[in-house]
Parts: sequence; C-alpha cells; structure tokens
Amino acid sequence: MRLMEDGALCVHAEGKPSALQALVSWLRCAVEPNSVADQPVRVEGHEQFAIRGVPAGVFVVQEHQATAHHFDLRLEVGGLMRSWAVPRGPSLDPAHKRLAVQVEDHDLAHNDFEGPTDGGAVIVWDRGSYEQGGRVPWPEALERGHAVFVLHGEKLRGGFALQRTRDGDKPQWLLIKRRDDHARPGSNIVAEQPESAQSGLTLEELLDD
Ligand code: MN
Repeated sequence: MRLMEDGALCVHAEGKPSALQALVSWLRCAVEPNSVADQPVRVEGHEQFAIRGVPAGVFVVQEHQATAHHFDLRLEVGGLMRSWAVPRGPSLDPAHKRLAVQVEDHDLAHNDFEGPTDGGAVIVWDRGSYEQGGRVPWPEALERGHAVFVLHGEKLRGGFALQRTRDGDKPQWLLIKRRDDHARPGSNIVAEQPESAQSGLTLEELLDD
C-alpha cells in the first residue's frame, strides 16, 4: 500500500482473479463506491518488491585496507561509479543495516584495480551487472535518498536498498539486503567468501607480500 501525493491510497494486490474481484468489491462496500478504481498491472520479475529492473551497467565491491579496513561499493550511474565506503561490508542478511558513507565518484577504469597500495591493499571482492529499480527513475532516486537495485554478482545477488540517513559533506546511507530468494538470514558473506572475484587472492594474502 502506498499513500499517493494527492492523498489517494494505492493498493497493489496479486492473486487469483476471483480473489482480486472480491477485494475490489469489499473495498467498494467499505468506502464510497465511486472512489475505488482498479486497473491491471503488468506482472514483472521483481514486482513483489516494487522493483522495476532497468539494466544499468556494472557494479563492483572492492575490499580496501587503508587507514581503516572497509569495502567500497560502486554502482555505474551516468558513466561514473557512484561510491560508498561500507566499513563492515555488505550482507545478505536483510536484518543487517550496514552503514555506507558516500565518497567521491570513481572512474570506471578503476573497477578492476587490485593490488598493494601505499600502506594497504585492494581486491575486487565482487563484481557484475546490476539493475536500477524502484518507482523513481535514477539518478533522481539517489538524489532523493532512496534507491533500490538488483545485483547480479558472484557473491551478491538479488535486491538491495540504499537509504540516506544523514546529508552533508559525507552523506551517510544504510545498505540493506531486501527479502527475496537470494537473502541469507544469519550469513556473513564477507567472512565466508573473502577471496577476490578477479584473482582468487584474499586481502590478507596481498598484505603479507
Ligand atoms: Mn576505499
């Protein structure tokens, strides 16, 4: 259910035609009959989460040991990689709300960078393509501070949401796995699968060199 800007209540319902007809009839009895309008919607892959997927480009998650250890989530938007530093890394557990601090955009050419750095190291922890979702088109969804998307990575798959919680110099967001077939409650994907999606190396192995 969704409260629209004009004050109307929008209900999205799925089920057998007879059940939907019964629901509409019940609503017409419960409120002013002429105030209830119904219209069919096209059933799509991610409709159950209100995610309308639009193939959008590539994503990468780089594990980065710098002054502090973190993961950099980068999503291709308008020819650049929008970037968030996620201190604890992404999770497939929908109960985990991971702090994601927005950082400067990166060039696409940086996506496959892996190796030692001055005082640290970087691995390509996961990568793949993604779909932009939600009812608000991107990049407006990001500007508004709520963006949903579907990742097709080697480790991260399915729906995710980014929700901005604090604006300012370094905007703070929460990265949350949406409940779908790819959710894995209780899991700890960054600990379970530490190796690079590119080389198979772990960050520890690079740091030991
Ligand atoms: Mn970083």
